[in-house]
Amino acid sequence: MYDVIVIGSGPAGLTAGLYASRAEMKTLIIAGPAPGGQLTITSEVENYPGFPEAILGPELMNKMLAQSIRFGATLVQETVVRVDFRNRPFHVQTDKANYEGRTVIIASGADAKWLGLSSEQKLRGHGVSACATCDGFFFKGKEVVVIGGGDSAMEEALFLTKFASKVTILHRSDQFRASKIMLSRAKANPKIVFRPNAQVVEVLGVDKVTGVRIKNPTTEKEIEFLTEGVFLAIGHQPNTSVFQGQVDLDEKGYLKVGNNTLTSVPGVFSAGDVADHRYRQAVTAAGLGCMAAMDAEKLLTQEKG
Ligand code: NDP
Repeated sequence: MYDVIVIGSGPAGLTAGLYASRAEMKTLIIAGPAPGGQLTITSEVENYPGFPEAILGPELMNKMLAQSIRFGATLVQETVVRVDFRNRPFHVQTDKANYEGRTVIIASGADAKWLGLSSEQKLRGHGVSACATCDGFFFKGKEVVVIGGGDSAMEEALFLTKFASKVTILHRSDQFRASKIMLSRAKANPKIVFRPNAQVVEVLGVDKVTGVRIKNPTTEKEIEFLTEGVFLAIGHQPNTSVFQGQVDLDEKGYLKVGNNTLTSVPGVFSAGDVADHRYRQAVTAAGLGCMAAMDAEKLLTQEKG
């Protein structure tokens, strides 16, 4: 029986594990098959406080991992396949074992959506990115494209104009989901060019991006478009399928949170991108992990009376 079961091992999960175990709660971190979360697939992280010279994503996560188990948390590389939050203690079943927890912190994150092209996956980290905030800096003075037509695409494009010499928004149709205000801001920026009816069907380049092949979905005509950076902004997918029916999710599948980290089930807390589609930063996720662990501790202390 654990006091706290943390599901997830990105910055949110590992910080929750650190705070929970350091508060002397018996803590289990269920890390998934590859601990570390999204940062393990990025290169340099320059915006995590405390690392003035930047740090590699995997190295940062290794440090967080070591710190999270320093105070006695148990970490298992297992995948959650089923949860039962109907009664306490809560039951969490993984691909290898069954666990019971007085509280649960869900920190299972969200993954950026990708086009699903093999060329895109091959060049991830070599010019293909799904995070302008993380990687925009590496494109100073270069021409880049942003794929998508929603608010994220507008926001990423606007952010990229700080660095890139030109940002082309490639959108598969001519109907934009982006809000009027975001669309107008992007349109007003002289560095941003819109290219609607442009579906990316291939990312070009051998060891770094040199361009994209785009297709007009109406005419089916394909052309090559030169660019050095490809930023995906076609939405995120929260990792919540295993929690469906157990805790309230919003219409996009994100955990619904009320006050700070509280979910619809008392004793089940949320941390990080699994509920946050707005900030999505390592540092905000870590902060939410800390908050969730403190909220779990407060509940258990109150219950002990
Ligand atoms: P959205 O779901 O709003 O938009 C996704 C975009 O990606 C659409 O234009 C969609 O095209 C396109 N797309 C989806 N799949 C593919 C694909 N396989 N190939 C090509 N294009 C594809 O997601 P966002 O991340 O933009 O926004 C999510 C939420 O977050 C929204 O509610 C948004 O308002 C909010 N948000 C708000 C911000 C702000 O206010 N500053 C900033 C960022 C996000 P299509 O339309 O053709 O389906």
